[in-house]
Parts: sequence; structure tokens; C-alpha cells
Amino acid sequence: MSTNTSIDFSSSFWNAKYLLIDSRMLTAPSQTIFFALNGPKREGSEFIPELYDKGVRKFVVTVDFDKGYLYKEATFVYVENTLQTLQEVTKYHRELYPDLPVIGITGSNAKTIIKEWLYTLLEVDKNVVKSPKSYNSQIGVPLSVWQIDKKHELGIFEAGISKIDEMKNLQRIILPSIGLFTNLGSAHDKLFDNRVQKLHEKGFLFDECHSIIYCRDHEDIHEELRQKNGELFHWGVHQEAALRIEEIENQLVYLNFKGNKHQITIPFNDEASFENAMHCVAVLTYLGYSFEEINRRLSFLKSLPMRLERKEGINGTVLINDFYNNDLGGLQIALSFMGQNQENLPKTLILSDLLQGHNDKTVLYQKINELIHEHEIERFIGVGNHLSQHQNDITIDSQFFKNTSELKNAIRKQQITFNKEMILLKGARQYEFEKIAALLQRKIHSTRLEINLDAVVHNLMFYKAQLQPSTKVMVMVKALGYGSGKHELAHTLQYHLVDYLGVAFADEGVELRENGIRTPIMVLTPSPDSFETMRRFQLEPEIYNLEMLEALEDFLEEDENETPFAIQINIDTGMHRLGFTVAELPILLEKLGKIASKVKVTGVFTHLAGADEEQHNNYTLNQVQEFDKVAASIEDFLGYKVIKHCLNSAGIVRFPEHQMDMVRLGIGLHGIEVNRIKQDDLQTVATLKSVIAQIKTIKKGETIGYGRKGVASKDMKIATIGIGYADGFNRHFSNGVGKMIINGKIAPVIGNVCMDMTMVDITDINAIVGDDVVIFGEDLSITQLAKAIDTIPYEILTSVSSRVKRVYYMEG
Ligand SMILES: *Cc1c(COP(=O)(O)O)cnc(C)c1O
Repeated sequence: MSTNTSIDFSSSFWNAKYLLIDSRMLTAPSQTIFFALNGPKREGSEFIPELYDKGVRKFVVTVDFDKGYLYKEATFVYVENTLQTLQEVTKYHRELYPDLPVIGITGSNAKTIIKEWLYTLLEVDKNVVKSPKSYNSQIGVPLSVWQIDKKHELGIFEAGISKIDEMKNLQRIILPSIGLFTNLGSAHDKLFDNRVQKLHEKGFLFDECHSIIYCRDHEDIHEELRQKNGELFHWGVHQEAALRIEEIENQLVYLNFKGNKHQITIPFNDEASFENAMHCVAVLTYLGYSFEEINRRLSFLKSLPMRLERKEGINGTVLINDFYNNDLGGLQIALSFMGQNQENLPKTLILSDLLQGHNDKTVLYQKINELIHEHEIERFIGVGNHLSQHQNDITIDSQFFKNTSELKNAIRKQQITFNKEMILLKGARQYEFEKIAALLQRKIHSTRLEINLDAVVHNLMFYKAQLQPSTKVMVMVKALGYGSGKHELAHTLQYHLVDYLGVAFADEGVELRENGIRTPIMVLTPSPDSFETMRRFQLEPEIYNLEMLEALEDFLEEDENETPFAIQINIDTGMHRLGFTVAELPILLEKLGKIASKVKVTGVFTHLAGADEEQHNNYTLNQVQEFDKVAASIEDFLGYKVIKHCLNSAGIVRFPEHQMDMVRLGIGLHGIEVNRIKQDDLQTVATLKSVIAQIKTIKKGETIGYGRKGVASKDMKIATIGIGYADGFNRHFSNGVGKMIINGKIAPVIGNVCMDMTMVDITDINAIVGDDVVIFGEDLSITQLAKAIDTIPYEILTSVSSRVKRVYYMEG
């Protein structure tokens, strides 16, 4: 790593909470520096437009990037090599904390697991910073080290290498004071001529450590590490081990430390976990913890979610997920972990190509075949080109797929199925086995509102198609985005370049701004005491009466801002809710005149009272005419153009000739066409789902629920559904008024809707506990529900209470 002396890392540009290399990981745009690293498929700079759109303003790019001028508000730092700069700035950052003790972990296997365990054991009494996941590469290490700040008392970072010379680089970034060497396995063999070279290379991490911790039982490791300057602290059965194991009896371990005997319990039975835990014991002993305390803390490890995750799968399967890396050593650990599980399920292994270079592939795959037999795997699924080519080396029932998406499709189409088996999903990270896991995992079972963001975009495009290309669109995201969650909606809308968003209150606007929304925002019912806030967050208040205008005048007297305050004016032409009446026009103009230099009226609008009903056509047209006149007078008076707008969703469909400069889209975005004229052109956005909690059979004449309102007219089968009026399932749906869909069939509500539960009749439906229940969605529309209880779709949609989890999806 040659130091690039021309960069001043103490400058304010580098003051950022997050360093970003993957645009999908963006969390806080304003606190982020994006490093445009080139990947195998895409250039980092391709992501700049998207990130800029989302609010990122700091970019590190290579000197040949020539599009910087397109991003007026951004700062670019141009460098020869962006990865090197990423490493340099984190090295600079690390050096700001010279006194922070840091444990650096390397070795062939188990770095991540040991790091996580140490974290669990030590965070009890220390503020510890650690590598996230298995961030141990030339990129992962800088991102890990960047997290250090002054509150930390200990750092634990792992380092892994895939090439000669890489470790020296990582050593300079981590600057570990205590080194921990895990073990020396067969991973990455091809990179090194021999074991000694590999060991030597990894050992560079410890060059400036004052202590090095390792297992004394491997002579070659000892030989290598004793040449370092640091003090050696080793454990093992070896006579010389500083922390000596005298005897092991099941999980009980008898230790000898400085001549004193101690006893600890290691809460695992397999060899790999034993070794990992002993490394941790050695670190804690070295740090001066008593054996009593170490023993107490070891018990915490048992319930840890590990790199190997165990999850409930579909059709009674159990999944063990391990997607971090894939080499023989790791496979061995995962297989023995699989063996420890109590269930007597047949074992299936889904394995990706091993990415370690192995000189002789045939030997490698024969070795895998041996492991498969040794661990009694009954079914094998291989993913990747190498495995496909070496099919014949695997001698059990097996199937092969060229890549992850082939396997994914086969599962989707049920060409390959799983039933009551234990499945180990073991893949190198680039195989993205999490996608397979997502298909095989049992889905969350609770009441939830599923939002289809593709449908949102489809509906937006439908309404845009009704308009001239130059007509702007404001989308109303008030009331939590009509119940569908404002942030996710707002981000989708911003991405699709909607011109304005409309919210009810200033707070909602602030929240959107803080979440990276930069689209102009109008606030429908602002309170005068929020003018200050609205100005600061560039929110445009709707000014709707004289009092409000006077309050604005007062506010502006004190306001010393140079730029005019953007506002919108609401004219009441017949809705009689908010807005200046036509009669108030002269006084409105007079008052506007007084503050003319301090405000910018961006828009003037009116709201239609009956745009969805033909019987009110004359009234509507009259509203439009009145508005036209008033808006023209205001524009004349001001001497500049304002955005004039009057149409809501219903209006866009029925009165496109009055679209003016902008329209205000609301419920239509959610797939509800209140005129019912264009309903078929829209897609369903929200699906409210719950599950069957219990099923009962009821004898004829018995009653169901509160007030005994539901009476069984015959022998019946009843399902209790986990949704009630507190979730937004209106109590008026009681006693047959409401219906739900279970396995494609209609189940009528029986008895009264309760607070958290509702009973339905499933006498003629084949269903079991846990089955999904649709409250509304594609086949049971919100409009139908609204009709049944004599309300409007708006109310059904916005009543879904906030305790109902919102789940967003996008087919993409
Ligand atoms: C809510 C609202 C809209 C959107 O109405 P939809 O009928 O949902 O399209 C438009 N304008 C104003 C002022 C609103 O309050």
C-alpha cells in the first residue's frame, strides 16, 4: 500500500459515518461516502446516478471519471485507485485510536465464528467493535475498521487473504495488538506453494502484536509464530502449553494454568466447536478473567445464532444455512453441525462449487464424495459448472444445476421438491444461496399487509398515460400513504420521478426528508407554529385562510432568510372544507402583496367535491371555471407563473381536459378506481392477510363468540382467524356481513368480530391451522368490502392499524 500523500484525510469530506461500496446497502445518504469500486460485472460509477438521486453527495472515483459536472451538489474526490484510497482512509482512521486494544483473528477456518463468540463473551463488560458478518477481505476489513469510534474499549476484527502479500495490507489497517491464530486447514491451498508458506503469509497479521494466542499442539504453527516479537500465549494438551488441558471428560475440561487447576464446561460436543471455544477461553484467560467468570460466560454461547443458521423450512424440513464461504474445512464443520441435530430426518446437501483452487479437481470432488458418505447424506444437489462436470464423482442420489437461478426455477416449478428432510445449504457467497433459502423457508405467519410496489408503479404509469407529458403529478401520501407505508411508497415515487408529494402534517414531511426524500412536498394542513420547520426542511405549506396568511406574515417579519418561502394557496370553489372563498380574493391579493418579496407562490389549487359522480358534473365544471378565474387573477397579480391544479384520482379519469399544470393522485395509485370506469386497467396493490389460529367443530344449535350472536344452523367447522377490529377489520363485518378467502373459497364471518380475532365458517373448506387467509386483495376487493359495510374504499384502506406488519415486495 503506497501512501497517497496528496489526500488530506482530516478534511471535512472524510467526515462520514458510512463508507459505501454496494449501492444496495445504502442507509443514510447524507452520512455516506460512496467508493466507486469496479466489480466483475459492473463499474462502480454506474451506480452514481441512482445514489445521487437518493441523496448521496460524496463520491470517490477514479481520475478517468468525467461525469462529475452532472451532479451539481456532489463532491468528487478523484484518485488513481479507489480501493487503495478506501484502505488508506481507514488506516488513517485506525491511527486516530492508538490506545484501543484490538484483537486480530486469522487462520484457515472459524474466524467468523470465533469473532462472534468472543464478542458475545466480552461485550458483557466492554464496549466492543467487531467486523460485521465475515468482513475479512481487502474491502471488508476497511469497512469494519471504519466503525471504530471513541466509545469503544476493544476491537475484534478478522482478516482473510486470497493472495500473497494481502495480509501485510490488512495488518496495517487493523493494527492488532493481540493476535489470534485459529488453525491451518486446507482452504485456498493452490495460492501457496506449501503449508509453511501459507502459515508465513498469514503470520504477517501479527507483526506488531504484543501478544499472540494459538493452540500449542501444532508444531509448525508454533515454529512460525515463535519467530514473532510478541509474547506467546498458547493453550493445548502439549506439556509446554501456557494454558494446559489435563483431561477432558464429556463437556468438562480440566485445565492447568500457572500450576493451579481449574475446571470449565464447554457446551458443545463436536471437535470443531471445542477448538473454537478453547481459543475463546485462552483469550479471556489472557485478558485476566477468572475461570469462574469464564465458565459462566461460556454458557452464553449455546443459544447463539451462528454462522450456521437453523431454520424451519417448508413441508416439515429443517434448513441449515451457511452461505459465507465454501471450502473443505468449512464443509466439514457444517456437516458435523448437521450431525448434532436431534431430528431423525434424512439428510440432504445442497452445495455450490468450491471456490478454493485445488490443483486436482477430481481429488477434490472425490474428497467431497467421501464426506457425503461419512456423514450419511442421502441426497445431493450440486450447483455450479464444476460440480456439474464432476457429476460422476458423486455416488449417491444426486441432481445438478449450472447455477443458482436454474435451481431456483426448478423449485418454483416444483420440478424438485423437499419433504421432511434436513437440508444443509452450503454455498460460496457469490452463489447467493439466500435466494434458495428464501424459497425453502417457512413464511412468516401473522396478520400482514402485503404491498406490491410493482403494482404501484403500474398504476402510476396508468394515470400518467391519461395526461400530457408536461403535466406534473403530485401523489398524496397522507395517512401513512393511504395505509401502505409512506417511506417505501415515497422512495418508489421519487425513483419514478413524481413531481410532488402531498402530506397532511409538517412532521410527516420532516420524516420523509430525514429518510432521503428530496421531491418537493406540500403540507395540506400545516399549523402556523411549524412554519420554521417547514422552511428548514423545504416543505411547502398550503395556505388556506386569512388567519393562516396573517400568521405567515408575522412569521416572515422575523424571518431573515434570503430565499423566498415557497407556499401553495387553496381556493374553495365548492368543497367547503379548506380554502379562500372567491369573495376573499381581493383581501387575499392585498395581503399577498405585502409579503410578495418574501414568498414564492409555487401553486394555486382547488379540490373537487364530486368528481367521481356524473350527477355532479355541472357542479364540478362550475368549480373548475371559478377556479380558473381566481387562479388567473392571482397569477396576474403576482406577475409569474404558478402551478395550477384541481384534479384528484377520479378527476384524472373523468375530466382530463382540466388537468391544468398538475394533478393530485391519491387512491388511484393504490389500484382503486372510484369511478369504476377504468378499474380493469389498475393492479391490486395491497393484500391484507392473516392466518387460521384454530379450527373447531360445532354442533348444530351451539353459539359462537360474544353475545352468542353466531348460531350454528347445522354441525359446522369453524376457524378462528388472527385478525379483529383492533387490526382494522371493522366490527360491522360481524354475522355474515364480512367474508374472507381461504384456499380459494369464501368463508363467511360467523358471530361478532372480536378485538383480535374473528371466527369464520369453513364447513365446506379444506383447511388446516396455519393456512393463509385473505381479508382483501385481488379476489376480494377493498371496494367490495367497503360496499358491504356502507363505507368508502378510502376508509377500509386507511383503517388497517399500525400494528399490522407491512411487507413490501417487487418482482423486479
Ligand atoms: C387526498 C387528497 C387528494 C387525493 O384524492 P383521491 O381521491 O385519493 O385521488 C387530492 N387533493 C387533496 C387536497 C386531497 O386532500
